[in-house]
Amino acid sequence: MSGEDRVLAGLRDDGAGRLARGASRYLLVRPETLVALQKAVEAALGARAAECLAAGGRAGGGSALRALGGAAEEAVGRLLAMGGEIGWGRFTLERLTPEALVVRVEGSPFAEAYGPAAGPVCHLTRGVLERLAELALGRPAAAVETACAAAGAPACRFEARPR
Ligand SMILES: [Zn+2]
Repeated sequence: MSGEDRVLAGLRDDGAGRLARGASRYLLVRPETLVALQKAVEAALGARAAECLAAGGRAGGGSALRALGGAAEEAVGRLLAMGGEIGWGRFTLERLTPEALVVRVEGSPFAEAYGPAAGPVCHLTRGVLERLAELALGRPAAAVETACAAAGAPACRFEARPR
């Protein structure tokens, strides 16, 4: 993929504080900003924080998928490639069947910014992949981060299955 197909190459600066690609607005945010938000929500809500962050990922993932359109498998490939282009880590599709979507992510910015943790921390990515799985599987899905770099794994890994 090259040129205008790549997200960053297609970004337009309107000179008035807006970055957009087509009708989709983008915002560059440092990972530590999002992770500080995450840690504050965790301090306030405990375990419920993870689902709040996943909800954010689901919303962003849904918007991205509507913008992409097309067949499910093609959309999965394009969204995973886009994840890398916008700095969410290197996404690799491990498995896509009617019963599961399994994705590996190397270099998650959330895991790196979070620092060592007892469990998975990439809830935003999990939410995006959950929405992606719903499109690919054609029904409601739940995603779990089964390994996370913040918890010492070599890469993060997500498994989504029908609910
Ligand atoms: Zn992770």
